[in-house]
Order: sequence, then structure tokens, then C-alpha cells
Amino acid sequence: MQSFNPLEKFKINSVASAFSRRLDGNMSLSFGNIGSSLENRKKFLDQLGIDCCDLITAKQVHGKNVEYVSEKNKGSGALDYDSSIADTDGFITDQPLLPIAILTADCLSIFIYDPHRPAIAVLHAGWRSTQQNIAQEGIRVMQNKFGSQPQDLLVGFGPSIRSCCFEVEKDFKSNFAFGLIKRNGRVFMDIALINQRQLMECGVGAENIFDPKFCTYSDSDLFSFRKEAKDAGRIISVMMLK
Ligand SMILES: [Zn+2]
Repeated sequence: MQSFNPLEKFKINSVASAFSRRLDGNMSLSFGNIGSSLENRKKFLDQLGIDCCDLITAKQVHGKNVEYVSEKNKGSGALDYDSSIADTDGFITDQPLLPIAILTADCLSIFIYDPHRPAIAVLHAGWRSTQQNIAQEGIRVMQNKFGSQPQDLLVGFGPSIRSCCFEVEKDFKSNFAFGLIKRNGRVFMDIALINQRQLMECGVGAENIFDPKFCTYSDSDLFSFRKEAKDAGRIISVMMLK
């Protein structure tokens, strides 16, 4: 099946970027039923021209650390979870043929491309990382490492649980100044909107952020931790400079 490319509207030829669907299978080596994960990864990544043995993944911790990775990190987490890069929720790189990936089941994945360096970033933005503003942290490290200009950046969102379904506690308000919606006495969080605002606050153009608006909870074609709990597989969000 065809994978979905959240940067498609920008018509970029020099980057492979995509997220997987349920039919592609679980992509995690640590969560859900992991029996076929390596096979699933190979099949999914093959169609993107990515060697599954080169994949770089993280031991994600819902923080805001974003790591620069290079050739020496190639394959970290590709074949076993233990070799994943610890304590990070995002990667940046300017190296070609170095696939970077984030695994999610409700959290938002963010794909960033700087056409000038060129360089890429992929971020894992659950509500905790969103609260810590991982979007702006990702841009800050791209600025530091690559001299990226926010107004040049092209951004695509992966799927996440959205405000139609993401009910939060009523006292959640203290965590966020905006992005919480009241409906029938209940409170829902709009995690994509918050990240969009955070990106725009540091200079990314609204027209350069593409949000395909897939809800992991509503769309049975995607994995949702909130719906499936410990049985939930993981969606892979992967990027590579060709
Ligand atoms: Zn929904």
C-alpha cells in the first residue's frame, strides 16, 4: 500500500518522509506485539528506498531533548530496542542516507525540512513534550547546528489523537495557556494547534506548516494507545535526506 507523506504538498524530491498505517503493522521493537516488527519495518522502509538496517530510533521519554545524529549513529535501534539512542524525543541531521525515526500511538510526530542546508528533523510531541515546547527546541538546535532560518523551514505533521477525541482532566488548563477546548462540560486538547502556534511563534510561516489532520483515535487505520492500551502497536514517522 502507499505510505502517506506529510511533506507531499511541498513537492520535495530530495527527502524521503512518511508515516505508517495499521496495515503496515507494528513498527516498535518494545511495545505491542513485536513478533513481526522487523519484517514490517523492512517492508515499509523498502518502498521508501530506506535500508531498515540503517534506521536510527530513540528511547523516547516525553522530554524535549533533540539530538544531532551522524554516520556513526547509523543503525542505532534498527535491529534491537536496546541500541536505540537514550533519553531523546527528536533527531536532526544533515547527513544523506541517514534515516531518522520516531514511534508513536497518539502522540504527534513533526517532520521538519530545511531546504537550504539541507537538513531534516523529526520530533515526538506528546502532551508532555508539547508542554516543554519540543517544537521550538527542535528549531533552536537546527539554528545552532545548521544556521537554519525558521522562515525557510517546511513542516509536516504526522497523525495524532486530536481535539475530537483527546479528553483531558478539567484542571489540565494549568499546563497550557491555549489549545484546550471546552465541549459539554468536558475539556479536550488540541495538540496539533499548540505545536503549530509554537512553531509560528519562532518564525515558521503558517503556509509552511502542513497538517493532514489524521486522528489516531477516530481512524481505525492508525494505532491509538488511548484506545488499545498495552496492545497498541506503534506508527513509524521516518525521514531521510536522499
Ligand atoms: Zn478523533
